[in-house]
Amino acid sequence: MIDRLGAPLEEPIFGELAIIGTGLIGSSVARAVRRRTAAARIILADCSVETLVRARALALGDETTSDLAHAVRNADCVILCAPVGANEAIGRTIAPALKSGAIVSDVGSVKGAVISALEPLLPTHAHLVPAHPVAGTEQSGPDAGFAALFVNRWCILTPPSGSNPDAVHKVRALWEALGSHVEVMSAAHHDLVLAITSHVPHLIAYNIVGTAADLEEVTRSEVIKFSAGGFRDFTRIAASDPTMWRDVFLNNKSAVLEMLGRFNEDLTAVERMIRHEDGDGLFSLFSRTRAIRLGIVAHGQELAAPDFGRRSAESEE
Ligand code: NAP
Repeated sequence: MIDRLGAPLEEPIFGELAIIGTGLIGSSVARAVRRRTAAARIILADCSVETLVRARALALGDETTSDLAHAVRNADCVILCAPVGANEAIGRTIAPALKSGAIVSDVGSVKGAVISALEPLLPTHAHLVPAHPVAGTEQSGPDAGFAALFVNRWCILTPPSGSNPDAVHKVRALWEALGSHVEVMSAAHHDLVLAITSHVPHLIAYNIVGTAADLEEVTRSEVIKFSAGGFRDFTRIAASDPTMWRDVFLNNKSAVLEMLGRFNEDLTAVERMIRHEDGDGLFSLFSRTRAIRLGIVAHGQELAAPDFGRRSAESEE
C-alpha cells in the first residue's frame, strides 16, 4: 500500500489557515495543506519557542508566531492542534481576535469536552466544526510529522447541532484534500467509539508496561530481551505522549470508565475460562478476535505484514 497525497488543488479551500500547536499533528496538517495548496497562506503558532524555530527551519508555513491572537486575526480557518486540555485557554485568547465568518476546528482525540470548552467562548460570528483525524504515531513534535499521515485514514467531524453547513462542508473538503475519508457523528458517540478503539487500548498498554517495569521476579533486562513475545507491541503504544494522553483520560472520563467496566467483566470471564480449563471457550474467543484483525487489514487500516511501522518508507513522500 503506497499512501500518496494527490496533486495540488486548482483553488485553495481557505485563503489563510492558522494552526495552533505545531507538533506531530499540527505539523503534519501544515505539510499536507502546503503540498496540496489547500490554503493560500499558513500561519503556525505554538507556545514553545524551540518548536517555532524548528517549524521555520522545516519551512512548514509562511509565518510563525507565539502570539495566538495575531495568528488568527486574518485566518479563514483556525485549527487547534495542542493537547485537548489547552483548548479552553487557547479559546479564551483567540476568541476576541477571530474575524467574521472564521471557522474554528481542532484535531483533539476527545470531542464532547472540546465542544463544552470552546462553544461558550467563541463569538457568534465564528463557526465551530470539531474534527478528529484518526491517525497518528507515538511520536511528538514538528520533526515527527509527515504529509501523508492522514492518507486513507478516517477523520470524524462532530459539528454541534445548528452548525453552519458551509463551514462543515469546507472542513470536510479540507480533510478530503489531505487524503482522509470523512464521517460525521455526534460528539457523544465519537467519545464512546474512541474510548474502546483508542483510549482503553492505550490505558491497557500503559498499564501492562508499568506492571512489567515493577515486577521483582523478572529483571528489566529480561523484559527487554524477550519483548518480541508480545510485550514489544504494547511498548510502542505506551511510548505515546504523556501530556496528550493525560488530557484524553481526564476529558473522556465517563466513556473510558464505562468501557473499562466492560473490559474488566470480560477479563474476569477469561480468567474463569483459564481456571476451569475451558479450552473451547478460549478457542472461540481467540477465533473471534482474529477475525476482527483480518477485518481491519481488509479495510486498509493496517498491513498484514507483522512489523508494520506507521511511518513506513512507502508512506513518506
Ligand atoms: P504534540 O506533538 O505534543 O504537539 C502539541 C503542540 O502543541 C506542542 O508543540 C505543544 O508545545 C503545543 N502546545 C501546548 N499547549 C499549547 C498552547 N496553550 N498554545 C499553543 N501551543 C500549545 O502533540 P500531537 O500528538 O500533535 O497532539 C496534538 C493534538 O492532536 C491533541 O489534541 C491530540 O489529542 C490530537 N491527536 C493526536 C494524535 C496522535 O497520535 N498523536 C492523533 C489524533 C489526534 P509544548 O511541546 O511546548 O507543550
